[in-house]
This record gives sequence, structure tokens and C-alpha cells, in this order.
Amino acid sequence: MIPISKPYIGEEEKQAVLAVLDSGMLAQGPRVAEFEERFAALCGVRQAVATSSGTTALHLALLAHGIGPGDEVITSPFTFIASANSILFTGATPVFVDVDEETFNLNPALVEATVTPRTRAIMPVHLYGYICDMDALQAIAGRYNLAIIEDACQAVGATFQGLKAGSFGTGVFSLYATKNVMSAEGGMITTNDEAIAEQCRLLRSHGMKRRYYYETLGYNFRLTDLQAAIGLAQLQRLERFTERRRANAAYLTANIHSVITPRVKDSYGHVWHQYTVRVGGGRDRDAAVRRLNEAGIGTGVFYPVPVHQHDHIRQVVGDVRMPVAERLAREVISLPVHPLLSQDDLETIAAGVNRL
Ligand SMILES: *Cc1c(COP(=O)(O)O)cnc(C)c1O
Repeated sequence: MIPISKPYIGEEEKQAVLAVLDSGMLAQGPRVAEFEERFAALCGVRQAVATSSGTTALHLALLAHGIGPGDEVITSPFTFIASANSILFTGATPVFVDVDEETFNLNPALVEATVTPRTRAIMPVHLYGYICDMDALQAIAGRYNLAIIEDACQAVGATFQGLKAGSFGTGVFSLYATKNVMSAEGGMITTNDEAIAEQCRLLRSHGMKRRYYYETLGYNFRLTDLQAAIGLAQLQRLERFTERRRANAAYLTANIHSVITPRVKDSYGHVWHQYTVRVGGGRDRDAAVRRLNEAGIGTGVFYPVPVHQHDHIRQVVGDVRMPVAERLAREVISLPVHPLLSQDDLETIAAGVNRL
């Protein structure tokens, strides 16, 4: 089976982890600090704060912006559950805005109508590695004085008009094992705002500045040097691996004719965390997935149920309808696009999809 994702662990990662083990400094230490510096430079921002996961990074970013009970945060219904859950952790309410069927991302034309006096932030999700229309979203955020907290968990290195994901407000990344840069588990918050970075650092470690004196209620959301060592080695390869993903995506788009392939607009630099096609026209997606798997082609369905339809979310937002997200949840199939695919693999994938 050609796997849908394949984490790459080279000699560099192995040596870097061994060096940390030998150093005796296993928890958050100098490698985390170095990883933060490199990550900030990669995103073109001044500050990066590492955390234990993308989910804890989202949670901290919201808390650092002072978001809590009574507040509303606008986000996408077509994303991983953690986007909405992190809003719930703070006591705030997620407000869903339907997505655009071509970009899979928040439809900016629908955002403004959902702003209320309680709205505090917009959380755009750059799904599959494709940035949202940040021009339109920043204009709305500016008009209503809203924070932008990008869920860039799938979009490390992605660009819009030459600017990097994570530089349009407060950015949040996941370093989970299958993400484009990974540290097994881990997260990163990026910002140009020193006060936000400072608050994230404080809350990441028990609200503690001076040892055993606590400024506020805080958490243990720290990353370890063992994980940072892996992440640093991964960063070295990011550019080369992103180019491979782009070449693989270009091949699939040129050679697949049986389903709707993703299109990328000018001025967007997609990083292809996932390559996602749509089985349109009421065809049976789940049957298509079975046939691809039988042909040795791994697949993913991200995500089979839109966020607003899960029970614990419905209890908060009620029965809302998001027609585009609901349709996409029935139509999408992600195909392997990772950097370790061979030319043979690519040919097998395109041929298998064209036989559907
Ligand atoms: C992976 C992911 C997260 C959560 O990251 P974890 O590191 O798994 O906690 C959040 N949002 C999106 C869109 C993701 O893909």
C-alpha cells in the first residue's frame, strides 16, 4: 500500500536525539530555544513559542489574546476538531462560517454578517496547506478590531502574496508526526507582538516567571529538547520536501481526469500537506475509497463529519447548516502527495484514480 503519509527520520534526527540524551537536559532547554528562533525566522516573525501540541498552542494563543467566557470566535466548520475545541477550552463560543468549495477555506464573503458585539477574533484554518484569503479577512478584522489567530497547523511555509503563514496575526502550528515539519508531538505559536509571546511563555509553564512564584493560573504545555532536536533536523529539509510535494501535486493534477482536482489561485504558495480531490456528482465516495485501497493506494478523508455536527459542538451552537462544508465532507478524498513518493507511485495513483 502506498501510504497517505510517511514521516521521514534520517540520520540527522537520530544523532540529534542521541546528543540530547547524552546531554542530560531532556526537558525544555537550549534546543527548544534554538527551534523557536529558527521557526520564527522561517515564518518571518519576531517571536515563536514552542508548546506540547498544536492543540495546546491554539489554546494558549486564544488565552494570550484574553479570549474567554462570553466571547465569540469565528472559525471554519471544515477542519480538525481541535480548532473548535480550543475555543471551547477558554469558555468562548465558536461561530462557524461556511467554506468556499474550491479552496476548502473560510468563505470571506460570509464572514462579516456573523460579526456581533461579542466577536473577539477570527480563526482562519489554512486547510491542507492552502492559506485563506488573508486580504479579505484582515480587512474585516481591521474594521471590527478583531484578533486574527491563524490555525496554520497544516500550512508551515505556505505563502499568500509572498508572506508566510503564521505572520498575519498570531500563528499556530502543529508538529504532530504526520505534519510537514514534525517533532512526534509538538506545537508552535508565532507572532510579532512581544506581549502575546510573553503571555504564551508565562501560561506555558504554570504562570511562573520566578521559580515557584506564580503570576497567574498556568499550564504545563512545554515541548522537550528531545522533540525540538527532531524538529530542528526536519526544518533543514523543509524547502526540499516542499518542492517535492509541489512537483507531486503538479503531476497528479496534470494526470488525473476522473475527479475534481484542487486548483490554486495566483499569489498563493500551497505546501500540499494534503492533496485532496472531490468525487462530485453524487458518486459514492466511500466506494471510491475502497477501490483505491484495493488497488494499493492509501487514502485519507479529512474530514468525514463537519465540526458543527459533532454532539459536543451541537450542544453549544445548536443545529446550524453549513451546506458547502457538509457536501465536501461527503465528497473529499486525500491522495498520497508526500515527498517520499516515487515516479512509479505517482503513476499508480493517477491510473488508480482514473479507473474510478
Ligand atoms: C493537526 C491539527 C491540529 C492539532 O494539532 P495537534 O498537534 O494534533 O494537537 C489543529 N488544527 C488542524 C487544522 C490540524 O491539522
